[in-house]
Amino acid sequence: MSEELRKIILEKGGKIAGKCFQCGECGSVCSIGYVKKDFSPRKIIYQLILDDKSILESDMLWWCTACYSCSEICPMDLDPEGIFIVARNHASSLGYKVPARIRSMIDSILKEGMLLPVIGRAAKARESMKLGSLKKADTSDIRKITDLERFIK
Ligand code: SF4
Ligand code: SF4
Repeated sequence: MSEELRKIILEKGGKIAGKCFQCGECGSVCSIGYVKKDFSPRKIIYQLILDDKSILESDMLWWCTACYSCSEICPMDLDPEGIFIVARNHASSLGYKVPARIRSMIDSILKEGMLLPVIGRAAKARESMKLGSLKKADTSDIRKITDLERFIK
């Protein structure tokens, strides 16, 4: 693991992935690993330990849904998901591009205050139920308390 990433994880109160002994328990409870066979929290931790930069530019780092099952089961009391969050932030600060689907979600949060815009079938369903269109949210507070904008620059 790079010294820089190690330092940031410690600063954020996280535990160092170097304690990981690759037991794979995290993968056994990972819902994303269940549907995407290439995804393995154990392997991501291993790549981070080895300072393998390819994981920082990989889309895979962003597949995790933050369910925290891995963090609950880890026998070494590591917090893989917490480590992934730090790694994602770190990757973005180093200039690695955030995947398009994540960028579009961030864009929607900043513009509409919603993770996903109500368009297509969802909009039609609302229309059929005569629910009318949703009021546009004031997202100025979101902009004040987050630095989400930097992810879509
Ligand atoms: S459960 Fe913990 S120790 Fe085991 S592979 Fe995952 S992160 Fe490493
Ligand atoms: S937090 Fe992410 S890596 Fe961990 S079990 Fe859930 S989906 Fe898998």
